[in-house]
Amino acid sequence: MCGIVGYIGNREAYNVLITGLKRLEYRGYDSAGISILNSQSSIYKCKGKVSDLERFVSGNNVSGTIGMGHTRWATHGEPNDVNAHPHKSFHGKFILIHNGIIENYARLKEKLMALGIPFKSETDTEVLVNLIEYVYEKGNSTAEIAVRMALSEVIGAYGLVIACTDEPDKLIAARKGSPLVIGVGSKEYFIASDATPIVEYTKSVIYLNDNDVAIISREGLILKNLQNDNQIPRIHQLDLDIGEIDKGGYKHFMLKEIFEQPRSILDTFRGRVGTELNAVYLGGLYNVTERLVEARRIIIIGCGTSWHAGLVGEYLFEDLARISVEVEYASEFRYRNPIITPDDVVIAISQSGETADTLAAVRLAKEAGALVLGICNVVGSSIPRETDAGVYTHAGPEIGVASTKAFTAQVTVLAMMALLIGRKKNVLSEEQYLSYIKSLTEVPGRIEQILVHDDEFKRIASLYKLANNFLYLGRGYLFPVALEGALKLKEISYIHAEGYPAAEMKHGPIALIDHKMPVVVLATKDSSYEKIVSNIQEVKARNGIVIAVVTEGESVITKMADHVLEIPVIDPIFAPLLAVIPLQLIAYHIATMRGCNVDQPRNLAKSVTVE
Ligand code: GLU
Repeated sequence: MCGIVGYIGNREAYNVLITGLKRLEYRGYDSAGISILNSQSSIYKCKGKVSDLERFVSGNNVSGTIGMGHTRWATHGEPNDVNAHPHKSFHGKFILIHNGIIENYARLKEKLMALGIPFKSETDTEVLVNLIEYVYEKGNSTAEIAVRMALSEVIGAYGLVIACTDEPDKLIAARKGSPLVIGVGSKEYFIASDATPIVEYTKSVIYLNDNDVAIISREGLILKNLQNDNQIPRIHQLDLDIGEIDKGGYKHFMLKEIFEQPRSILDTFRGRVGTELNAVYLGGLYNVTERLVEARRIIIIGCGTSWHAGLVGEYLFEDLARISVEVEYASEFRYRNPIITPDDVVIAISQSGETADTLAAVRLAKEAGALVLGICNVVGSSIPRETDAGVYTHAGPEIGVASTKAFTAQVTVLAMMALLIGRKKNVLSEEQYLSYIKSLTEVPGRIEQILVHDDEFKRIASLYKLANNFLYLGRGYLFPVALEGALKLKEISYIHAEGYPAAEMKHGPIALIDHKMPVVVLATKDSSYEKIVSNIQEVKARNGIVIAVVTEGESVITKMADHVLEIPVIDPIFAPLLAVIPLQLIAYHIATMRGCNVDQPRNLAKSVTVE
């Protein structure tokens, strides 16, 4: 989390930085700050969003061609003006912005305070800037050496941009654990947490690796590691278009991303599957297909929505490829003592490819000798770079903090993988395989048909916008969708919501049901249809309000439920891709009707690069 951006070149840095911060605001938005490294090198920072920062800065002289900016998601110290970044060292020689956590900050702070070094903020970041200056003043000749020496003492994660007033025409960038991309222009460089602030200026980028330190002036860039060994900067070409990162006429990124799903799912399977191809081709898995086919077990790891996609994956791999699957929260997996063997295949799912817990779990699985695959959206991010192989979701940038199109893209990739392995293992006959492929290609069109009913979803949202609790129930493939629907609602509308397997209701949650409790039941036609009909009866018998997602043409549930939301007929294994759409839209409308900022919900941020 936290968005960081730096610029050195011949443009007015302020404009580059502010535009960049707005693009990165999905990563954090509790406070923001900026410093233009001109003769005053003043720091402007305040609690609030980037727009608050703009107001705060207005009228001041922010002219200059080098600078840095930060949009924060607080980990250490409440979001306030003082704790906002940039931070300045005790004698004011170093200015620094940071994304990550310095885990040994308390010990370092104690040590520095014992030496008489004062602190203004409660952040872990200020420890770092003071440590650098302390090392520098102890007689180490350059800012770069001081940075490298200080960072060698640090435990934790960081993406950093650092300036030293003694060396004015230079920025230093360093990375460990938190992402940093450097855009290479002509006599200018852009530094950012992801490529979105860079793409309008240049498509040539360098992704920093852990332990890299880049010393950047207008004339060039030197890349080293912490041990002072020179590294070769590898320039990649961005495959990202500026048009992909604006709202395209929608009120919120989240709404745009929900409506984009017919296209984003098509982009996920384009060229990889299709009726004309009559097969699934996943280039990223070519070299590992045999190991996948022989896998004794698949362990899927993820957090939040990606974990829900992983649960759908469990049903898919077990059904279509008869492989035993475990789905793990990355944060639990990494800190247990999990049993991982070289026969296991570990699949890490992360939209950003930077999720700290998932990345750590990837490293653990690699050490244990498993084949480790990634399913990520952001090209060039850490997980794809550290896994043995993988499949990009190609859903385009997801800016809304509540994940929508990333979920459907992840499920699409998991379905393609399960089909590929299922066919190779001969679990699926050619006929079944082709029929599933055909169904998958029909998904985008079916989602279009659902999106047309948005006004109906909005009407239902208006009826329940004041509810205090919601229950979501589903079975089989739709149980993970119930979890995802509940998560969407709580994260953007702040209404308490729970997702449950429908049959579990009678083991507890049924006690919550009364005439005020909306219960969203995923009740499309599949093998557990009869059972879910009984569950709806149980809710109605206790006066609960049933909002049922059903297959179009449904007649039984229509008579029982208070509201039905129809989705088109599709093979049940792809029903999650359709059933989630009304839930996303209902959550969206309830949140906007309650006046919530859906793109930037409180306390949350995207790309969770802290544990
Ligand atoms: N730990 C730093 C702070 O609290 C940076 C937070 C982050 O990257 O999320 O200010």
